[in-house]
Order: sequence, then C-alpha cells, then structure tokens
Amino acid sequence: MSWGVIATWRMAFEGTALASEVLKAGGSASDAAQELVENVENNPDFRSVGFGGLPNEEGVLEMDAAFMDGDTFKIGAVAGIQDVANPIAVARKLSDEKFNSFRIGAGATKYAEEAGFERKEMLTSEAHEIWAKRVAEVTEKNLNPYDGHDTVGVVSLDSFVSMTAATSSSGLFMKKAGRVGDSPLSGSGFYVDSEIGGASATGLGEDLMKGCLSYEIVRLMGEGLSPQSACDKAVYDFAEKLTKRYGKCGAMSLIAMNNKGEWGVATNVEFPFCAANAENEPAVYIANPGPNKTTLIKKATKEWLDSHGFD
Ligand code: ASP
Repeated sequence: MSWGVIATWRMAFEGTALASEVLKAGGSASDAAQELVENVENNPDFRSVGFGGLPNEEGVLEMDAAFMDGDTFKIGAVAGIQDVANPIAVARKLSDEKFNSFRIGAGATKYAEEAGFERKEMLTSEAHEIWAKRVAEVTEKNLNPYDGHDTVGVVSLDSFVSMTAATSSSGLFMKKAGRVGDSPLSGSGFYVDSEIGGASATGLGEDLMKGCLSYEIVRLMGEGLSPQSACDKAVYDFAEKLTKRYGKCGAMSLIAMNNKGEWGVATNVEFPFCAANAENEPAVYIANPGPNKTTLIKKATKEWLDSHGFD
C-alpha cells in the first residue's frame, strides 16, 4: 500500500516522522498532516510558525493557516489569528463549514474561542526580544525588515488514496499589521486533488500569489507530468516570467506529491525539505536550483544537519 508525506523546511522533520507513523498504521492523510503541522506549531524554537513565531511590525503575532481535503475539496483557513495554540486545528474545523470557512483577524480568533480551541499566549519572550532588537536595527541601520520567514507546508497521502494539504505560518517577520501572504490562500500556498496530487509553497507570499503556483503544479500533474517535472515547469517558467515582467522575483520553493507517493520540488534558493513514503524513511533533503530549469536534490549529510539551524 502506498502512502507518503512531504513537507517544507528542516523544521518539519520530527513532524514528518510522526506523520509517517500515522500513515504506516493506516491513519488518514488529514490526521497525519495535522499532526505534522501541530508538531511545528508547538515548538518555540521554530521562529516562523505558531508558538514562538516572530511578530509583525507592531510586536503582535498574527498567524495564518489552511487545511484542504483532496477528496472533497473542502477548505478551511484563518489569517491574522492571535493567541490560539494550533491555528491548523482551527483551519481544519473550518473546512467542515459550508459558509464562512475562511476567517480573518478578530473574527478568526473569536471563532476559535467559541469553538473551544485552546487559547495560549503565542508570543514568547525570546521572540519579543528578537523583535525589539530588529526594530532598533531597522531604525538605526536602515535594514530590510523582512528577513526571517518560513511556512510549514505539507502534502500527505494515505493508503486509501486520500490526500490533504496544510499550511501554517506567522508570515513575514516585521510585516505590516493585517498583511496576509500566500499560505492561507487556496491555489497559491496549497492545493490538493486526491485524484491527482497536491502542492504547497513557501517563500515571498507577495510573489507566490502572483503565480498561483500550487494550483499550477497540480494542474500540470493532472496533465501527466511527474511531480518533479510539474514543479520545475511551474516554478522556473514563472520565476523567469515574473523577473521579466515585474523586474524581480522573491524566494519561492514548492513541494509536490502525486497520489502514488512520488514527490518533486523546485526552488530558486537553497531549500531544505522533508519527505517519506512507503519505500523511504523520513529524511531531510536539500534542493537547489540547477541548470536549464532543473532542481538539484540531495539528502542532507550529518555535517550539513549539524551545521545548520532549523530552517
Ligand atoms: N509564504 C509565507 C508568507 O509570505 C512566508 C514563507 O513561507 O516564508 O507569508
């Protein structure tokens, strides 16, 4: 029986191992994806997702998350939610709603509270300290405020050939209040169709949204391309087009898996990610842009893992 999971960044490694156990034991793609994302959300060492995530310019931690069921196309999403322990759990619950399934700001937080989700002060003192230091640096040295962002995005496949896509992010560090990136937006941050496969994105949301790249990758897989060819075509063609027409292209890294558990990745920056399927144990891989619109992927060595952080 085939199953599989792929997720963005090294921070997803432990969650990928947990999700693999769920899938190996015959659990659902949805439970596996939620378990993976919650593992990342709960870890305060990961500075761009959930508890311990970095705040906006005003020092407020606003989080985005989305959940999509590839069997039914049900989607739930939240943006700018505050002080809720697991935004992904809220997004999943919202996916059951026929109306009002994408909630923002105070409305999202109120929904979570009324639905009984755990409230938690999500801004840690460490994250607050990093923010205060950055505010000083940005003012004194005129630095780019937006370094430091990453989304956990996941695509999972269970042995019943059901697929799920999920994302969670605190978005760009030092973003303006109310700024929302691609992560909770269907087609941009994620997309999944169990009859084909799924994809998810991380990088500069403002640019990812211009290409709806998660949807595009699923569409290309539906036309018969392998996950790797679909990622290469969607990402590198669009990065080229955007550079030509808009003058620049921010970081963009996309992951994809089809409903056989085969996966692919494309990126315009060095991009670590995690993957596992019935044949391959959970592992961290590193992708880099290669020649002629291809992607170079290798397994992370112990030295690499020892010398790099959680990104
Ligand atoms: N795509 C996210 C955003 O723009 C951030 C990231 O994945 O690095 O909010």
